[in-house]
Amino acid sequence: MNSSLLDRLRDRGYRLTSQRRVVAEVLDGDHIHMTADEVLEGAVSRLPEISRATVYNTLRELTELGEILELNLDGRSKRYDPNVTRAHHHLVCDRCGLVFDVQFEVEVPSLGLAEKHGMSIRRSEIVHHGTCRTCTG
Ligand SMILES: [Zn+2]
Ligand SMILES: [Zn+2]
Repeated sequence: MNSSLLDRLRDRGYRLTSQRRVVAEVLDGDHIHMTADEVLEGAVSRLPEISRATVYNTLRELTELGEILELNLDGRSKRYDPNVTRAHHHLVCDRCGLVFDVQFEVEVPSLGLAEKHGMSIRRSEIVHHGTCRTCTG
């Protein structure tokens, strides 16, 4: 079992205002890869007075804390992923943007000095692109 995002935030003493809690609740779960607008929509349905700015600021803070991952899987919009406790890769439908977490053992090749272009590598991932059942028809 993964520890839930809310539990992790409580454990680290993150100040959970009702607004931040709602954002964390919306993001909690498995295979969650929401765009900021989807998070906003979910947050508003729980707490109608929450503002777009609050939702976006909370997403940025949680990303900076390393409690959620900011991903750009389909080249269209950033998505937020609360599954940070287990290393995983992604399976993406290129038509509708559906995303699954996938777990498999693989050594992602490390880059040689020349290939790093002076960058320090924080994480590496593999993205499988395809078409989901719904989109295949
Ligand atoms: Zn699809
Ligand atoms: Zn994921």
